[in-house]
This record gives sequence, C-alpha cells and structure tokens, in this order.
Amino acid sequence: MRTYHSEDHRLHFPQAELAGGQLVTPFERPSRVEYVLRRLRERGFEAPADPGPCDLDAVARVHAPDYLDFLERAWDDWVADGNAGEIIATNVPAPGMSAARRPEGIEGQVGWYAHASETAMTAGTWAAAKASAACAQAATRDVMEGARHAFALCRPPGHHATRAQFGGYCFLNNAAVAARMLRDGGAGRVAVLDVDFHHGNGTQGIFWEDGTVHLVSIHGDPLHAYPHYIGYADETGAGDGAGATTNLPLPPGTPYRDWADALDRGIGAIRDRGAEALVVSLGTDAYRDDPISFFKLDSDDFRDMGARVAALDLPAVVCFEGGYAIEAVGVNAVNFLEGLAGR
Ligand SMILES: [Zn+2]
Repeated sequence: MRTYHSEDHRLHFPQAELAGGQLVTPFERPSRVEYVLRRLRERGFEAPADPGPCDLDAVARVHAPDYLDFLERAWDDWVADGNAGEIIATNVPAPGMSAARRPEGIEGQVGWYAHASETAMTAGTWAAAKASAACAQAATRDVMEGARHAFALCRPPGHHATRAQFGGYCFLNNAAVAARMLRDGGAGRVAVLDVDFHHGNGTQGIFWEDGTVHLVSIHGDPLHAYPHYIGYADETGAGDGAGATTNLPLPPGTPYRDWADALDRGIGAIRDRGAEALVVSLGTDAYRDDPISFFKLDSDDFRDMGARVAALDLPAVVCFEGGYAIEAVGVNAVNFLEGLAGR
C-alpha cells in the first residue's frame, strides 16, 4: 500500500483556534502528520511518495468555481483590506437573513464561504489544501490503475468542506474528490465510509442527490457533537440520492463493541448498494483519549476496524481526516491500515 504525502501541508499552520471562548493553538496542527510518518516507517511501510501537482479540474468536479476562486485570493484580499491577523469568520448568513447577495468586501465574503469560526486561514492555506487534495488524487489514480489500497496522508483534512464552504479545519473535500474521480474513471457505484468521530457533513452535502455515491458516516450524535446541526439518522439523501446516505450517530461514551456493531450495519448497507470501490475518511478521533471527542475506542480497535472494512473486499482509497490525541494518531491510523491490508 503506497502512501502519498506532501511537505506543503506545513504551509497551513494557523496560530489561533477559537475554542471554549479562548484563542488556542489549533488541535489540527502539522505535528499530527509527523506521528503518522514515524509510525509508517516503524512498521515497514514503503517511503511516502510525492503526489505531484493538484488537478484543479478534478477538484472543481465537487467544489463551486466561485468558492475555489475565493480560497485562492482570500489571503491577499484580507491583507489588502488592512487586516493584521489570520482569517477568521466573525459573522455568517444565519437563517432569517435574506443572504440574497454575496458581499463584495472580504470580511463579508469570509462569512459567506465559512460554516464555522474555529477554522482560521493563513497565507499558505490554499497551497496546503491543494497539496492535500493532490495526495487524494494520486492515491485514487493508484487504485484506478489496479492497486488494492492506497493511503492519502491528507492535511488539512477534508470531510467537513462542503461544495462552497470551509470549516471544521477543512477546505477541500479530499474524500469527495477521490469518490468523484473513481466515478468519472468508470466505477458504477462508489461508497464513502467516514469513520472520523465527526459527521462527514461536507461529503453528505456534495453527494446528497447522487445515488451513485453512498455515504456511510459513523459519528458522535449531533445532539452533543460538532457539527451539531446535521448528521441525524433520518437524513438519508434526496432526489436521485434518496437512500444513498446512511448516518449512524452514536451517544457519548460509546465503546468499541457498540461502535463495531454500527460499522457492521454500515458495511451491510454498502454491500446492499453494490459499491465497486471504496473511499475511507480515516479520522482517528473516535480514540478514547481524543481531546475533542467522546467515544472510547482503544488503539487495537483501529486494527479490527481495518480488518472489518477489508472484508468488504473492495479496492480502497484511504484519506486521512481528523484525530487530535496527537501522540496516538500515528499508531491508530497505521493500525487501521494494517488491519485493512491484512498485516
Ligand atoms: Zn473529526
């Protein structure tokens, strides 16, 4: 299983995240990747490959052109407007506002293209987001060319990025880009299995009316967990996508026994819809010591998780997502990969 990794992820390292009423160092930080790389080396995986440049045409298959234009120019516009700090959305078009026109000023546009205010942008965010998507693209090309599995060590993560909004540390939806590429490459049906602790709201929105891409997301119940306003079990898709979204929200304190039952239900749903290829949104924040999550998985459980996914017997692109118990992120992610690969 090849890993794709770009050092350009370091270009995105905001110094501020609004959490608990304070500005803190973001939980989503570059060192997360270092722990994964170290563990891959320790376990004898082949050295990571550079993904090459990002194919923006493939990105534009899942993101709106005006949103991509915004991401590209936001920092320059922000600085030209006289702002000294990082880009953080301070107000957004809430229900009840007409939101009939996109504002012309950068402050209004930041809120227009954000769905949360914990996520800051910096001078290097666009370059890092493109490099992250490039990893997903390179891994997807591997699988399209016959590899059984490939691992995209994406950072920043992607599953919270919607068609035209950033948030939840995400800017480009890497898993959605991969799924779209697999479809465009000839796979009749694709499944996205999102095991990150948080609901894959961006992926859900992008494929909401698409019956050919089946999202299964196992996540903290939105009654108690980010992203709070989406991810309930009765959200199942619409139009051509009716029935192609499977949400499996679980309560605080969920142990692996119950989590694995949900996974088996999700795997059954994927089988029933007849996917020909799989994309995994691999967050490791279901881990018991994660600082912003509330499930109780142990490190060994991620290996079992990978083995259960392997039983689907599908070619798979694995995209790295969240996981904030930093020193355990590498072990947990690589345990999943070893379970998947039958190692
Ligand atoms: Zn997460």
